[in-house]
Amino acid sequence: MTDKIEKEIIDDEKFNDLDDICDECKRKEQSVSHNIILTGFKVCESCRISKTIFPI
Ligand SMILES: [Zn+2]
Repeated sequence: MTDKIEKEIIDDEKFNDLDDICDECKRKEQSVSHNIILTGFKVCESCRISKTIFPI
């Protein structure tokens, strides 16, 4: 029963990781994919800086 749900979650994450859209401001930035690797946050460079200064 849970197999289908888990597969959908994995597919969703895979799609999100590849689209380079910042989770914070929803802009497409090349730095988003770099920041996933560096910080684990799917954010662009300007949002990464604001997250660093004001961590939620
Ligand atoms: Zn951003």
